[in-house]
Amino acid sequence: MTQDTVRVRFAPSPTGYLHVGGARTALFNWLLVRKLAGVFVLRIEDTDRERSSDEHTEAILHGMRWLGLDWDEGPFFQGAGLERHRADVARLLELGRAYRDYSTPEQAEADRAEEMEAGRRLRRARERADALGVEDSDRRAAAGEPHAIRFRVPDGETVWDDMVQGERRFRNEEIDDLVILRSDRTPTYNLAVVSDDADMGITHVIRGDDHVSNTPKQILLYESLELDVPAFGHVPLILGPDGKRLSKRHGATAVGAYEEEGILPEAMFNFLALLGWSPGDDREVFGVDELIEAFSMERVGRKSSVFDVTKLQWLNGQHLARKSPDEIRRLVLEALERRDPGLRAAAEDRDPAWIDGLIDLLKVRARTLEDLADQAVPFLGPLSGYDEQTAAKQFMKDPAAVAERLSALKVALAAVDWAEEPMESTLRATAEQRGEGAGKLIHPLRLALTGRGQSPGIFEVMVLLGREEAEDRIDAAIRHLEDEGDT
Ligand code: GLU
Repeated sequence: MTQDTVRVRFAPSPTGYLHVGGARTALFNWLLVRKLAGVFVLRIEDTDRERSSDEHTEAILHGMRWLGLDWDEGPFFQGAGLERHRADVARLLELGRAYRDYSTPEQAEADRAEEMEAGRRLRRARERADALGVEDSDRRAAAGEPHAIRFRVPDGETVWDDMVQGERRFRNEEIDDLVILRSDRTPTYNLAVVSDDADMGITHVIRGDDHVSNTPKQILLYESLELDVPAFGHVPLILGPDGKRLSKRHGATAVGAYEEEGILPEAMFNFLALLGWSPGDDREVFGVDELIEAFSMERVGRKSSVFDVTKLQWLNGQHLARKSPDEIRRLVLEALERRDPGLRAAAEDRDPAWIDGLIDLLKVRARTLEDLADQAVPFLGPLSGYDEQTAAKQFMKDPAAVAERLSALKVALAAVDWAEEPMESTLRATAEQRGEGAGKLIHPLRLALTGRGQSPGIFEVMVLLGREEAEDRIDAAIRHLEDEGDT
């Protein structure tokens, strides 16, 4: 490793699934190091034993692999660094940059109340530690008396040049003498993160805005431990369409939910990159390599960005359209299998060119692979029935009349070439002769052929089904209508 190598990390806590905010943070880190030929470290911050789980760790790793966010080192687990964390605390004690706090819970409570009242930090625990003196403090610790260890926040001001937000300044007098080691000898977040980031040689810390108030504490810890301070960049929050912080109220926030919906990983990648970063021109559709090329931290904005699912779906359509027929066929087969392995088998029985024709027909309307697979269902096997709502409108008002219309249409179509244009003119001419609008024929025909109220253009559907299958479906609908008419 040379001095100049950029080393970043993604440090999720496995207390939940990989959510879009976390994935976006990971992605900005990843783009930066792929651009600068740096190193991406993955660290699982599993110190909150109660809320962390292996299941969540697995889900986070899965989500990152799905997005293509590969890491160069790790996953490391924060819990494994416990002894180093304690050693760093011991060092701070030795240097006089930390002190033991033997306060009783009642004293701690009274301190809090007094600070609230005063509206400023009073540092009573520090006063008590200083009054006790180092020797007595050492003696009580040696005797096994429980205590926490607090960081002695120095006077002055903490300033850094944030990669995203520019100069940030905090007055140290506002920062609490934070606990760095609890009385059960476990380290707290700020200490563990500084110890780990230093140990892993992290040069740039890019993370969510919600960590901004931790940064001055961490900088002061680095300085007190005489360690190099990394660069920091805080990425603004992601908001829901109503301008409030993105939450489950706005829909799925777990990346895995979008995978299940059939969003392509490259579409999600593209979408996440645009949440806070912009290329500076009006381009929106980017492949991963194009993003690596175009990305820079300078173009990460200071304003929060809005999570707009419609845009994700649009991008997904754009990425679907960029796929080669072979790729898209493979993805559609996978999506069919997720729905029902029998559907995949039915599709594989067909001529691949026919499947490609089906995909071409459906993909313009489909926004996700699952959507496309769903629309493919009526083409891959016998109809399982008719959509009830559409049937109530198109079939049931007057079943006998609809059956008669479909029969007339079938007779008219029997004489034409099975191609879009002649079928369309025949249908229109038939409607005109009968003094009816074309819709009176088209809507029941769509229901007869697909079982659904919506489909691609009905003449394209007929061509794809072929004459025999289309005629069989029309006959089946007529029988169905006659049965309904009898009851
Ligand atoms: N584990 C922290 C979190 O998930 C991130 C810590 C950091 O990036 O410094 O919020």
